[in-house]
Amino acid sequence: MYTALYRKWRPQSFSDVIGQSHITETLKNEIITGRLSHAYLFIGSRGTGKTTCARILAKAVNCPHVHEGEPCNECEICKGIDSGTILDITEIDAASNNGVDNIRDLREEANFNPAQTKYRVYIIDEVHMLSQGAFNALLKTLEEPPEHVKFILATTEAHKMPATILSRCQRFDFKRIGAEDMSERLLYIAEQENISMTVEAANLISRLADGAMRDALSIMDQCIAAGKDITTKLVSEVCGIAGREYLAETAGALLKRDTAKLLQIVSNLHENACDMERYCSELINFFRNIMVARTVKQPEKLMICSDEELQSICRFSESFTLPAAIAVIDTLQKTYAEIKAGVQGRTAMEMALIRLASPELDARDESVLKRLAQVEKELKTGVKVQATEEPATPAAPGINEELAAPTASAEPEAPQQPEETPPPAEQAAAPEQAAEEAAPAEKEAPQASAPAQNAAVPIRQWPEILQELFPKNRLVWTILNGTNAKQVGNTIVVYGTHPSIPDVLAVKVNADDVLEAANAVTLLEFTKVISQRDAEELLGESRSEAVEDPLQAFIDKAQQGGITIDYK
Ligand SMILES: [Zn+2]
Repeated sequence: MYTALYRKWRPQSFSDVIGQSHITETLKNEIITGRLSHAYLFIGSRGTGKTTCARILAKAVNCPHVHEGEPCNECEICKGIDSGTILDITEIDAASNNGVDNIRDLREEANFNPAQTKYRVYIIDEVHMLSQGAFNALLKTLEEPPEHVKFILATTEAHKMPATILSRCQRFDFKRIGAEDMSERLLYIAEQENISMTVEAANLISRLADGAMRDALSIMDQCIAAGKDITTKLVSEVCGIAGREYLAETAGALLKRDTAKLLQIVSNLHENACDMERYCSELINFFRNIMVARTVKQPEKLMICSDEELQSICRFSESFTLPAAIAVIDTLQKTYAEIKAGVQGRTAMEMALIRLASPELDARDESVLKRLAQVEKELKTGVKVQATEEPATPAAPGINEELAAPTASAEPEAPQQPEETPPPAEQAAAPEQAAEEAAPAEKEAPQASAPAQNAAVPIRQWPEILQELFPKNRLVWTILNGTNAKQVGNTIVVYGTHPSIPDVLAVKVNADDVLEAANAVTLLEFTKVISQRDAEELLGESRSEAVEDPLQAFIDKAQQGGITIDYK
């Protein structure tokens, strides 16, 4: 029968325990000097070795052949404790035996001398789960403990422990096991088990296990079951972190501010039944890793991801500034909470990503939020343009400004020469360049010889424009056939009854085809085409807000602060 690695490789002596030498050394010392406490409290997250150390301690206080604080593991007592046949050692899971009666039984029994050992040892796991009555009963025993009794209490949640109990125990805090220590141990076990495992795979498992040896060995078990050679690829597959290219794709599209692409990614994931909550959480972690990679020298130690992902994270960390990464995490975390609270996941993700891809927005200002809806509409049409009424959509000096670092926005997938990437300060100083690269449409187009701004003028050549469109894009032609169009500034507004008009124009390639046809026929420079419905919302809102413009207020404030604003 196959024995789980965790059981098989459970440390038998203090020196086998990984990453807790501050505890094991103290315990060994107590045994050597005979200065034992009657109650110990082991605190630490799961899988850090609390129960393991408790058992070793139970052996060490009772083994007649104890050597330098370590149990011999050979004698009948050591073996009996390991196999659970010595009844003087009792393990209680407080999660399932939390009543006052359980502890009263224990108290009665504790009065009797041990049958085979020197000390009765009670190991109470998850001790914070005890009821109030049980705690009180336990406290009485701890206040006047029989000489022949040792208590070892273990908990993951020290803050749930009554102070009266805490003050009567010698406390040990177990640390999460460091990735390096853990990798070393995993490689050792693999070698002993004759399993081939790469160092990278061991490192990845350590990161995935997040400081819990039990989890690490359980991942190793799953890998062994799936295939003989343990590689990062196998680990990624077993742990479900493989095939997450969409995360890097999303980051790339955010850098380029390619809203159409972002919507497409969400749509693909949605169609493939990907849970939006999970997508959001993975994306948060991806940007958290970018943040880490920007901040520390050896980021891989702090990341949970596959090797491929690590490489792309490191590349992206050269492109995303720290404030940009934090802004993304911030927005996504709010979105995550919304989705958790029951908001429709797909829409929430779409909104979050579009918001993040929009350079004009600093979504944290409440008053700007209204304005967001308008700009989002613009972005949804896939073409970034000069606004129809206001001076322009200025490149606001917000955090999003820094999303695209100059060198990176063009080809984030391509490996970058570090020398080419300017330091963060320089990036921040060159927002214009970033904006240009991210949104080429913005700088084109002098105003199409426009009539009075905002006055809608019918486009008489619309039938010819549609004719021009026909060979290029029949789908759009079919939907736009029979419509009328008006010109507002550089924008074409399409009037028609087909319900798909807004959606079809929201796709960038479609809008581009219409614009190309329109510009070819009219010799004007239209930069945007939207449906009547979208136009009404857009124009209606900008009119109502013309009086007090929060964005303008923001810009004024920035200028007062000495920040130069470049209008496009
Ligand atoms: Zn022994």
